[in-house]
Amino acid sequence: MTQLVPITSEAKTFLDKSHTHFVNGEAMKSSGKGRIDVYNPATGKVISSIADATQNDVDTAVSAARAAFENDEWRNMPPAQRANLLAKYADILEEHADELAMLEVLDGGKPLMLAKPVDVMATVGAFRYYAGWADKIHGQTHNTNMPGDNHVFTLKEPVGVAALIVPWNYPLVMAGMKLAPALAAGCTCVLKPAEDTPITALRLAELAKEAGFPDGVFNVVTGYGRTAGAMLAEHPGIDKVAFTGSTATGKAIADAARGNLKKVTLELGGKSPNIIFPDANLDKAIPGSAMGIFFNSGQVCTASSRLYVHEKIYDQVVEGIAEFSQTMKTGNGLDMEVMFGPLVSDRQLKRVSEYVDIGRKEGADVLCGGTAVGDEGYCYAPTVIGNTNNNMKISREEIFGPVLVAQKFSDTDEVVSLANDTEYGLSSAVWTQNITLAHQMAKRIKAGQVTINCCGGADWDVPIGGYKESGWGRENGEDGLNNYLQTKSVFVSLG
Ligand code: NAD
Repeated sequence: MTQLVPITSEAKTFLDKSHTHFVNGEAMKSSGKGRIDVYNPATGKVISSIADATQNDVDTAVSAARAAFENDEWRNMPPAQRANLLAKYADILEEHADELAMLEVLDGGKPLMLAKPVDVMATVGAFRYYAGWADKIHGQTHNTNMPGDNHVFTLKEPVGVAALIVPWNYPLVMAGMKLAPALAAGCTCVLKPAEDTPITALRLAELAKEAGFPDGVFNVVTGYGRTAGAMLAEHPGIDKVAFTGSTATGKAIADAARGNLKKVTLELGGKSPNIIFPDANLDKAIPGSAMGIFFNSGQVCTASSRLYVHEKIYDQVVEGIAEFSQTMKTGNGLDMEVMFGPLVSDRQLKRVSEYVDIGRKEGADVLCGGTAVGDEGYCYAPTVIGNTNNNMKISREEIFGPVLVAQKFSDTDEVVSLANDTEYGLSSAVWTQNITLAHQMAKRIKAGQVTINCCGGADWDVPIGGYKESGWGRENGEDGLNNYLQTKSVFVSLG
C-alpha cells in the first residue's frame, strides 16, 4: 500500500482561497467572470481555480507597475538596500520552503523528495545570487577622441516595466530566474504564470509584500496564454518581455512585442543530443543519461532527449538505460519513494502518448515504457525508443516528456552532423575519457550549453540560452542581469 505524505493545512488553506490577481501590493479582483480550474496532476482532480485576466485587469497591473517604477521609493532605493531586500526575500522564501514545496507538488506534480531541495532551494538561490549583484551595477568612463576637455561615462539604468511569462515545468524556478535579476536591476514586474501551474506565483507575490517590496513592484496576473499572456506581450506600457516556453509561442511573442519594440528575451525549446563514445565510463554514462532525460519526467528544456551511441556499445547502453529507468518509481509525488511524478496535464499526457504512437508507426522500436501508468492522474512510464533516425518526427520534434530516442553512430564526423541536424540548439552532452575529443566536440556542437561526462548543468552564475530556434539572449549570471538594464552615454564638456 502506497503511503502518501498528508497535505499540510497551510497548503490546503492557500489552495482553498478564492484566487485573484495580485496587483499593487494586494489581491485584485478580476473585472471579468472567467475562471480557470487548477488540477492536481497526480489525481486529475480540481484543487483550486484562478482568474482569467481581462484587458482591464492587465491594464491595471501594468499601470501599477509603471507607477511603482516611476516612484522614488523604488527608483532611488540605495543599491545596498535593494540587495538587502532581495536577501530578506530569499530568507522568507526559505522559511516557507515546506509550504512552497507542498504547493509545487500539488499544482505541478513534482515529487516531494525533490520539490524542496531542487525547486524551492534553487529559487531561494536565485534571489540570494542576484542580491549580490544589486549593489554592483555600474557603467564605465571613456577616454574619447573628442576635442577639448571632456568627461564621458555610461550609466546602467533599469529597462522599465518587465512582463515575465513563464511555463509550467518549473513554476518557482522559472519565476525566480526572471524576477531576481529584474528586481536587482530596478525594474518592476508583471509575472504571468502558466495557467496549468499558477499557484506558487501567487504565494510568491504575497511573500514579496511581507519582505517589504514597495507596492506595485511585483505584480501577478493569471490567465491563459492567449488572453493574459498575449495582452502583456503586445501592451504598449511594457518595456521588456522575458519569456520561457515553446518555440511557437516565442515567435508569437516576438511578433506581438514588435509594436513598441520591447526588449525581448526568449528561452525556448530543445531537442538536445547526448553522445556516448566507445571509451566512455558507462558506469556513469548509463545512469547519467537516464537522469538526463527522465528527470522531472522529461519536462526539462535542456533534457538529453536524442541519444547517439557508438555502435560498439549501443546495445549495452540502451539496455542499461532501459533497466535503470525501471528502478525509479513513477507516481504521486506525495509518495516519498517517487522520483518521477506525473506529467503536468491531461493535454501533455495525450501529446506524449501520441508521439510514442507516431514513433511506432514510423518503424521505431519501443524498448521500455510506452504506456501511461496508474489509474488516476497523468503519469507516463520512462520510455526508450530504439531503431530511430533523424528523419523521424520523434527525433526532430520536442516531446517534452520521458521519451528517449536512440540511434547508433560509427564515427565522429557523422555524429557531429547528426547532433547539429536540428533547428534547436539549447544543450548537448558528450561522454568520453579522451580530453581532446571532448574539447573538440564542445567546439563543434551548435548549442548554448555542452556538458562533458554529465547531462545537464545549472548554476545561477552560468549563462543559459539557445542557439538557433532555442531562443534569443542568455539568462543567469551577469548576462541575465543585463537583460533588465540599458546603457546611457553621458558626454560632459569641461570647457
Ligand atoms: P507555452 O509556450 O505554451 O507556454 C509558456 C507560457 O506562455 C505560459 O505562461 C502560457 O500561458 C504563455 N503563452 C502561451 N501562448 C501565449 C501567447 N500567444 N502570448 C503570450 N504568452 C503565451 O509552453 P508550455 O507548453 O507551457 O511549456 C513547454 C515548453 O517550454 C517546451 O517547449 C519547453 O522546451 C519550453 N521550455 C523552455 C525552457 C528554456 O529555458 N529554454 C524552460 C522550460 C520550458
